[in-house]
Amino acid sequence: LEAGLNCIGCGARLQDQDDQAAGYLPLSALKKLINTDNLLCQRCFRLRHYNEIQPVELTDDDFVKLLSQISESKALVVYVIDVFDFSGSLINGLPRFVGSNNPILVVGNKVDLLPKLLNKRHLHDWLARQLKENGLHPEEILLTSAAHPQNLDDILAAIDEHRHGQDVYIVGTTNVGKSTLINQIIKSRTGIQELITTSRFPGTTLDRIEIPLEDGQNLIDTPGIIKKDQMAHVLSSADLKYALPKNEIKPRTYQLNAEQTIFIGALARFDFQIGDRSAVTAYFENNLMLHRTKMGGADEFYTKHAGELLKPVPEKVTRLVRHEFKTTKKSDLVFAGLGWISLPAGIQVAGWAPEGVAVTIREAMI
Ligand code: GDP
Repeated sequence: LEAGLNCIGCGARLQDQDDQAAGYLPLSALKKLINTDNLLCQRCFRLRHYNEIQPVELTDDDFVKLLSQISESKALVVYVIDVFDFSGSLINGLPRFVGSNNPILVVGNKVDLLPKLLNKRHLHDWLARQLKENGLHPEEILLTSAAHPQNLDDILAAIDEHRHGQDVYIVGTTNVGKSTLINQIIKSRTGIQELITTSRFPGTTLDRIEIPLEDGQNLIDTPGIIKKDQMAHVLSSADLKYALPKNEIKPRTYQLNAEQTIFIGALARFDFQIGDRSAVTAYFENNLMLHRTKMGGADEFYTKHAGELLKPVPEKVTRLVRHEFKTTKKSDLVFAGLGWISLPAGIQVAGWAPEGVAVTIREAMI
């Protein structure tokens, strides 16, 4: 690999270090292929032989270049977001680069993770308000679970309705389920025989993957953008798998007095600082251990029990950073990419997370 070999599919420099980046090929596979003229990266191999899209990542800067390219063409933008991780799904600059010229269709994915009792209309309207606050005015918002889609036809119909005969770009941050959704679309469209990698996105190292639509236009897969202030960046991949929800979340409600603390594993901490006795509800992966204690002794408690009673622990940072908020309405305190705690109006709280992981407050979702 040091000799500098390139994939014959997308042209990316082959590498065996990062399976999420362009040009990844495990060394064992390279050894088998080295004397053939089929030197394909893993992503192009799966595309060619299994008609399957694998996710690939891109940093913010490269993505801005890609967005400006989309803004120069006439196209429909399908923006996939993860309803469990709304803040992690936001793409800086998306409204500026895309919204002005091109219509946007939002697909809110992973609805299966939210409590079944949550009214879909309510979720839809909440999403619409959140998107508006962030400068996005989509033509339509559709809700789905790409992993088990029941309404794929609705999504395909909406895409057809809003694209007005133009190309369709599918965008999203990493891990929102963009590849899962595209693969479902490919599977459902039996007519799609061969996916193609075509020209590069100018200024980036990445190829475009085009999925032909009936009228000669294309559905174009774009790389996922990495969000830097997410829990994913301070957890080992095994711990991340453990800490992220896989099934419907069972909300956990606590009656708290002022000066009580809840630890979320050793990953985050919630302090109810000031306010009348209140109910707060936590939305995290069901197996993630929550532990209630007195705020006064919480620092000591953490030092003593991180790694045993409180698990998992962040991999790269050990210090939790404190963020303080006062609620004026029913709100969610969000730990980026991990989950949230819903709070009543009129209390003062603090959310703690590893350095570099965002803690924010938003209108309550549920
Ligand atoms: P991408 O980076 O946006 O392309 O995301 P992927 O398609 O690779 O999906 C990221 C993770 O989310 C994978 O573990 C998927 O299995 C999971 N996932 C995708 N769609 C859904 C869904 O609808 N529900 C749930 N629970 N998980 C999903």
